[in-house]
Amino acid sequence: MSTQTIPPAPADASSPTNATAVAGYPELAMYIDGRWTQGSGSRREPVLNPATGEVLGQVPLAEASDLDAAVAAAERGFALWRDLPVDRRAAILHRTADLLRARAGEIGRVMTQEEGKPHGEATGEVMRVATLLDWDAEEGRRAYGRIIPTGPGETLTVARAPVGPVAAFTPWNFPAGGPMRKIAAALAAGCSIVIKASEETPGTANLLARAFEEAGLPAGVLNLVFGVPSEISERLIASPVIRFVAFTGSIPVGKHLAGLAAAVMKPTIMELGGHAPVIVCQDVDPAEAARSCVRGKFANAGQVCTSPSRFYVHESHHDAFVDAFVQAAEAVKVGDGLEPGVQMGPLANPRRRAAVHALVEDARARGARVLTGGEVPAGPGFFYPPTVLVDVPEDAVMLREEPFGPVAPIVVFTDLDEAIGRANALPYGLAAYGFTHRADIAAKLTGAFEAGILSINHVGGSVPQAPSGGLKESGHGREGGSEGLEGYLVTKRVSHRMQI
Ligand code: NAD
Repeated sequence: MSTQTIPPAPADASSPTNATAVAGYPELAMYIDGRWTQGSGSRREPVLNPATGEVLGQVPLAEASDLDAAVAAAERGFALWRDLPVDRRAAILHRTADLLRARAGEIGRVMTQEEGKPHGEATGEVMRVATLLDWDAEEGRRAYGRIIPTGPGETLTVARAPVGPVAAFTPWNFPAGGPMRKIAAALAAGCSIVIKASEETPGTANLLARAFEEAGLPAGVLNLVFGVPSEISERLIASPVIRFVAFTGSIPVGKHLAGLAAAVMKPTIMELGGHAPVIVCQDVDPAEAARSCVRGKFANAGQVCTSPSRFYVHESHHDAFVDAFVQAAEAVKVGDGLEPGVQMGPLANPRRRAAVHALVEDARARGARVLTGGEVPAGPGFFYPPTVLVDVPEDAVMLREEPFGPVAPIVVFTDLDEAIGRANALPYGLAAYGFTHRADIAAKLTGAFEAGILSINHVGGSVPQAPSGGLKESGHGREGGSEGLEGYLVTKRVSHRMQI
């Protein structure tokens, strides 16, 4: 991988700079109408390094006038971008992808500083968003319509067109992946976008926007804002300029935003939380299955919407699975993600650690046994150890609510149908995993699991060429694959008679 030093952001003469930023962490700003700005107000929020608690910088928060400027810019940007030849649009997106690849290590370092995930994981995320952008750029060329047979002297066609300016809201757990899934699909479809990336990981979002700017993206096509989330979503969703709403985050916030969009009849994509079941059948090697689960479980310290989070293990394998799982969990090297060899960083924020520990305490109080982890460590940062629990009763909160952290409750089952019933019993429907070598059981699981993302014999991650998204309360719409552009396109039926 070649590397490239990122040039400093052009200063905005009209507003004060982010004077407290630490070395190696970018100057934080919003990007509105092709200009970097601190916004029209004076509100700021500190950005913390979750491994140390150190303040990395101050993110500016948008005022209503900044949001209005971003929406007006997106309206102009849309008119321009929509009418640019698709080849030119694709070329700009590919150039951006090349810049991101060249800077992956450097952007990954900023991501580790502000989110905590190990540097290798963070760099890999940047490389993946570059691949996603390349994929979407090409998919934009394939937003085909169709011709429907009809009588002579008449054509009947179906045309696809970009939906218009998009409002998007993304969380902190994938500081590059979250925003890029929205930006890439919107821009590839010919839309402009106003995106509120997370105030907790604004450095990565700034560096993504800079790559687009340097690749020649016209002003107004991409607008990046930060602020008080409810203020931004209420103003953007209500604006008549905004035609589509894309959100990734928790189910309660998703329901709230879907309600705001419904009130003005706007379509949405909702990528919400999950509580992914894993069913380990009696025909597999339990130790191999356990090691595979551990690799998936502790990625990003379990703060992944598709993280395996409830392990149903056949009674014949329970003890062997648990032994191997605990051994592998205890071998995970936890620390500051910038240190070499670290495999799991801290949780991204103090509220996440408090929530995870409360789930462990609740399970313990109901009779679960904590085999490893389960205590808040002393020292700086928001660390929480890989934690494994057994004998977790069905009424424990961690078996019902998304844990979003490094905890693994392991539960015994005797009958496969009963395990499937428990897997499907929650309102979540994002991801589900099965471990079996039997084709008939694999087919039964994939047919029965009520989830949008299914993996057999591994804990699969997302890929650009296939769709990701949820069923039930985990949301609707898909990101990735040929389905990924659907939400950002509208369909027009055109019936044309040659004579009146
Ligand atoms: P949260 O629900 O408070 O916030 C999630 C995200 O939504 C944040 O980025 C926040 O800025 C934004 N948000 C909150 N209120 C908003 C509003 N009114 N308008 C617009 N945006 C708003 O939760 P949290 O503590 O930050 O994150 C933990 C939860 O997020 C987890 O429980 C998990 O369910 C969810 N999550 C889901 C995914 C996913 O891909 N499905 C990804 C990350 C986080």
